[in-house]
Amino acid sequence: MELQRRVNLKPYNTLSLNVEAAYFVAINCLDDLRQARKFCHDKCCPWLLIGGGSNLVLTQDFEGLVMLMAMDQVFWPVEKEKQSISKTFSVNAQAGYEWDLLVAESVARGASGLENLSLIPGQVGAAPIQNIGAYGVELKHCLELVQVFNFDTGDTFELAAKDCEFGYRDSVFKRNRSWIVTQVQFSLTYGNQPQVSYGIIADTIMSLSGELAANASPQQVRDAVIHIRRSKLPDPKKVPNVGSFFKNPIVSDSQKQKLAQQWPGLVAYAIDGKGHKLAAGWLIDQLGWKGFKQGDVGVHEHQALVLVCSGVATGKDVLDLAQTIKVDVAKKFGVTLEVEPRLFDNRGEFYL
Ligand SMILES: Cc1cc2nc3c(=O)[nH]c(=O)nc-3n(C[C@H](O)[C@H](O)[C@H](O)COP(=O)(O)OP(=O)(O)OC[C@H]3O[C@@H](n4cnc5c(N)ncnc54)[C@H](O)[C@@H]3O)c2cc1C
Repeated sequence: MELQRRVNLKPYNTLSLNVEAAYFVAINCLDDLRQARKFCHDKCCPWLLIGGGSNLVLTQDFEGLVMLMAMDQVFWPVEKEKQSISKTFSVNAQAGYEWDLLVAESVARGASGLENLSLIPGQVGAAPIQNIGAYGVELKHCLELVQVFNFDTGDTFELAAKDCEFGYRDSVFKRNRSWIVTQVQFSLTYGNQPQVSYGIIADTIMSLSGELAANASPQQVRDAVIHIRRSKLPDPKKVPNVGSFFKNPIVSDSQKQKLAQQWPGLVAYAIDGKGHKLAAGWLIDQLGWKGFKQGDVGVHEHQALVLVCSGVATGKDVLDLAQTIKVDVAKKFGVTLEVEPRLFDNRGEFYL
């Protein structure tokens, strides 16, 4: 384990926030995690694990150890085994493997399962934390098993999908902060019907390839998703952002009815007997925030759910704007927005 002191974290978070870690280490294997645990224990210092840094807001210099997940092996079934597998097979990827690379490689093999989750930034290990989702698919649909290192106890264990308590942008990992995901096993399929229930995907497949969505290959679905995402979302390498800043709020059926009467055009999706999910971006857009700019932060011009910053903004600037939007939405719609990225100060996580 090669420990460094006073490392700038700007390259390690997609908001480009200019904060420092008192101690910093790349985690290349389980033994590095064990040594890092001992270091934090001996020094009595806090710790923070970073993957791709695309879902966090760092508001202050971190006083403890920042660990960069760098375990990046992937284990595809060998050709011989693959031939004997008729339809479904498993692939294992370590936590530090780049998420979109795994998607690209699965699609290149003609396997389906991950293609709707194309181009989501970050690492494999972070994907189960908030059960990443996009275009009608969530990670839980293809995850089999997660390997975990408990940073509190030093134990390792496996968790089956059914024990991960997956929900909308939620999982058991959000309630067990010392559980570090070290490897994930996915179940992929050959010859599966693509998931194209999102109308925009079917339309985009047709316009890009002239193919009916029902006949589309995983590659065609991936191409469509990439096309849509590139046209709607800013590239964090050019415009610092963390994707959607707020979760889509869930309201009761009666609250949804009331809002729909007041606000014709309200965008809402029924969630099997559990109320309605409102499109947070639509709510924010109605209040005129899209394209708003204030100093070094703002709201993206094409997507009201995405806060952007200039590269010199502070985490506090970003959170001040988020808080102002949150208050505005609560005042006008009576709906509470919840922040999606994870927020950290000098010693650990906090909530807005
Ligand atoms: C342009 C853009 C588009 C996005 N689109 C989507 C989208 O469509 N759907 C979606 O769901 N998300 C989306 N996101 C959010 C983000 O990409 C995902 O949440 C992603 O999984 C975060 O991965 P990461 O490696 O960057 O995590 P990080 O930001 O590094 O970490 C996020 C949190 O997870 C924890 N963590 C990271 N790795 C591990 C691990 N191995 N074990 C335990 N905890 C860990 C961190 O401590 C932190 O609390 C988008 C972000 C951007 C910038």
